[in-house]
Amino acid sequence: MKISINLQQIGELDRTILRTLKKNLKWALKSFNINLEILEEVIPLTTAEYNPFKRQYDANLIMQNLFKSYKEKGLFRILGILDNDIYVNRYNFIFGSARHPDKIYSPYSPVALISIFRLREEFWGFQADQALFELRILKEALHELGHTFGLIHCENDCIMIFSNSIDDTDNKPPKFCESCKSSIEIFLKNEI
Ligand SMILES: [Zn+2]
Ligand SMILES: [Zn+2]
Repeated sequence: MKISINLQQIGELDRTILRTLKKNLKWALKSFNINLEILEEVIPLTTAEYNPFKRQYDANLIMQNLFKSYKEKGLFRILGILDNDIYVNRYNFIFGSARHPDKIYSPYSPVALISIFRLREEFWGFQADQALFELRILKEALHELGHTFGLIHCENDCIMIFSNSIDDTDNKPPKFCESCKSSIEIFLKNEI
């Protein structure tokens, strides 16, 4: 199977975000020989995924849709990107998820999802900062993709540190530590 990460737009999203993310991921993953693609079609958001009480979308339901598309197209990895606020189970919000929609306790899923909704400085009451916004998107994408390569959370100076707040995201580097990097290399070798 071709080692390809497919970026999937979900709902309304500025397409330039996908192009920038593709370029940045290419740079961040350059040592792994992974292909990056942007999928043409858009997966729409539906009212079924919307929780009017929380005014947020249910990430598990969106993940189920992504999973369907992953299976139908026979993809290696799919990363959904959306510009709406998402939550899952007991969390008020999440930046992203790579949890298997059916097997909750599975260590990883080939499908991942990130929301860019809370990654803008404006969301937190600060002045817009495009470079910071793009860096945060890259970090969240790398972190969730790390899970799709079997990584669990890490305590080194590493992108796999668990992030519970935007400060956590800002404080970690946009790269894998040496230990996570070699785990990914081993994982990918076994996938081919
Ligand atoms: Zn995580
Ligand atoms: Zn690590």
